[in-house]
Amino acid sequence: MGNNAWNDKNKFIWLLSVLLLVAFLVTSGISYKVAHDSLSQQIESNTLPLTSDNIYSEIQQDLLRPIFISSLMAQDTFVRDWTLSHEQEPEKLIRYLKEIQEKYDTVTSFFVSEKSRHYYHSTGILKQIQDVEPDDAWYFRVRSLPESEHYEVNIDADTADRSKTTVFVNYKVFDFEGKFIGVTGVGLAVEKVKSLIELYQKRYNRRVFFTDRQGNVTLHGDEYDGADSLQTSPGLENLATRILTSPSAAFSYQRNGKTVYLNSRLVPEFKWYLIVEQEDAPQERELLNTFWGNLGLSLMVTLGILFISNMTLGRYQRKLEVMASTDKLTGAANRQVFDEYFRQALDKAKLAQSPISILLLDIDHFKKVNDSYGHGIGDLVLKTMTNMLRGALQQQDILCRWGGEEFLILLPGMDLTRAAELAEQIRELIFQREIKVNGLHISITASIGVAEHQAQEPAEDLIKRADLALYQAKEAGRNQVVLNHS
Ligand code: GH3
Ligand code: MG
Ligand code: MG
Repeated sequence: MGNNAWNDKNKFIWLLSVLLLVAFLVTSGISYKVAHDSLSQQIESNTLPLTSDNIYSEIQQDLLRPIFISSLMAQDTFVRDWTLSHEQEPEKLIRYLKEIQEKYDTVTSFFVSEKSRHYYHSTGILKQIQDVEPDDAWYFRVRSLPESEHYEVNIDADTADRSKTTVFVNYKVFDFEGKFIGVTGVGLAVEKVKSLIELYQKRYNRRVFFTDRQGNVTLHGDEYDGADSLQTSPGLENLATRILTSPSAAFSYQRNGKTVYLNSRLVPEFKWYLIVEQEDAPQERELLNTFWGNLGLSLMVTLGILFISNMTLGRYQRKLEVMASTDKLTGAANRQVFDEYFRQALDKAKLAQSPISILLLDIDHFKKVNDSYGHGIGDLVLKTMTNMLRGALQQQDILCRWGGEEFLILLPGMDLTRAAELAEQIRELIFQREIKVNGLHISITASIGVAEHQAQEPAEDLIKRADLALYQAKEAGRNQVVLNHS
């Protein structure tokens, strides 16, 4: 019975902990998810586009300048007149290019004539462009641009200084009838653009880079550690087309287990995409900290509740167990637990090879006590009787209230003779002692049957034999001890 109750209690506590933990986990999880989603939403549709807008407008200020200058050069009537009048006195154009370069502080300025294929530069005529020369491919590419496109932006080694990488603006030049007569433009040192990107990255704490329309990364800061193209960027393989097919896109994706927010937009003047990325927002970490904090707190609350309920249940359970196993009036063990006690005593006796005996005691004419003094007095007499019996017994002996005024006493380690001696002592004690209750002096006697447990004998048989002896004691006139010998 005790074991069952223990299991029930543990089951209850387990269930309670699981319920509490699940409830806490679900509520923390849901509130985290809600906060996370609204944060992602905020970053995706607000913060990042704003940053991108800022960067975009700075780019317009800084990078559109060379486009503007190149456009001016292409429209310049001097350049066109000079070209149409057979490129005489090249130093005139060279001086023009030199002035442009100095005035606008560009790294280079150039003009290539369609007719002579001369490459004019601020320092002189550098060479003649040739269609079989891979380095000159850019010219033929610009020349064959669709009519609606007047220029291209291109990153290349500088023809004037091969060690420098330059952002070129290559602008088509037309004569006054609209006939193509060459390409002109200026170049901007990549270093300058890169430091611009770095400035943006630092200022906004984002990753900023450009790709061309095919997705190849064209420009990035010094610390860039990404792939060479969108299609080969981890996490972006399938999203690259989404960026490259629309003028702007905003979404988040997973890279190395982290959420990356991305905003892209086409910069039409360059035909490049500006990509701005943000990895793990600082607020995200705060959310996660709050989440773990919540869970920790929940765990503590759960543990506290478990501790308290375990204590309360334990106390309640012990109380119940005592209540279930003892007789309320006398405090002696009740009939229900006798079997358990008997089994335990039997196991011990078997190990120690010692005997076990029992006494069955019944108060004589107890009805008279009730009839003469009332049931209340009868109860008090029973209580006193129990205390007297306790006083006569040893620690290992078990006193059990068997019926109304009938007691069973289990005597481990006693054979029939010793049990009979004890029974006689008890009988004498009850006979001699006057019980004093409420100023009354009540004398009672008791009859006792004694039996010793025999090998393999079931408890009922042993009790039956003791009961028989008790019956014989009553028959023989009461106030005596009778042994059952078989
Ligand atoms: P005997 O055993 O000697 O044959 O006579 P007896 O009067 O004791 O016989 P019996 O066993 O028939 O009666 C027992 C009486 O004990 C009956 C009942 O009223 C009384 N009794 C049983 N339990 C209690 C109890 O808890 N309190 C009180 N006051 N009386 C009880
Ligand atoms: Mg009786
Ligand atoms: Mg009786």
